[in-house]
Amino acid sequence: MKSLYEQLREDVRFVEGLKACLNCGVCTAICPAAEFYNYDPRKILNEIQKKDDEIIKSLLKSDVIWYCGECMSCKTRCPRGNTPGLVIMALRSLSQKLGYFTESEKGRQQLAIKRTVGENIFKYGYCVATYAVDPSLHPEQGPVWEFIINHSKENYERLGVKFDELGEGPMRKIPDDAKEELKKIFDVTGGTKFMNNIEEHSKRKAKEMNIPLSEKGIKNEYFIKVYTENSGNHTKSETGKQS
Ligand code: SF4
Ligand code: SF4
Repeated sequence: MKSLYEQLREDVRFVEGLKACLNCGVCTAICPAAEFYNYDPRKILNEIQKKDDEIIKSLLKSDVIWYCGECMSCKTRCPRGNTPGLVIMALRSLSQKLGYFTESEKGRQQLAIKRTVGENIFKYGYCVATYAVDPSLHPEQGPVWEFIINHSKENYERLGVKFDELGEGPMRKIPDDAKEELKKIFDVTGGTKFMNNIEEHSKRKAKEMNIPLSEKGIKNEYFIKVYTENSGNHTKSETGKQS
């Protein structure tokens, strides 16, 4: 069986993102996520360079790989031409593939993304479909979001948008044959298998935690738990940690 390091090396983002790290910390200095979260891309790259599977496994199971915003600011400054953001992408994909994402609070949120933004692609042809957002999941938006959703047609038409109608322009209805084509693209490129894998590992974890998880949808205990859970250990303001 291939080692975790070998599996990472099969991901072109990993090969491109980590050539040789001199542990200088410039990436951490420029990283906006490091400013806010208990996160340090320099440390992650330095750890991975040890090629130790136990270290890699603990990263795959940790919250830390889910803090990166994938902004790629780190690419612009690294004196060695590394891109820690790409390395993080490869770590995330391997964690998703092997199911290790279920072992961390932020990792378990993969199910929430899959069942909302991910499934929207097949249902509506858009990953972000404002009318599909459940306002009860976004109390931080106050009553504004609910108003926008309940008055989508009037609101978008005031902006000159042909909302939910076939034709051209933003927010148009995506025809069924185009959505079927999208689904086929996901099937042949491995996207569908990837999303099913998130489901399977989440179901296993829900069973292990003895928390009900329905086959579909967001109105169930496991989904709400992973969506709302917050240990308070993620940000510097919560824990007072500095890189
Ligand atoms: S800036 Fe580049 S060389 Fe420096 S710690 Fe980050 S990845 Fe390593
Ligand atoms: S891509 Fe990730 S690691 Fe790189 S600067 Fe942006 S948030 Fe930081």
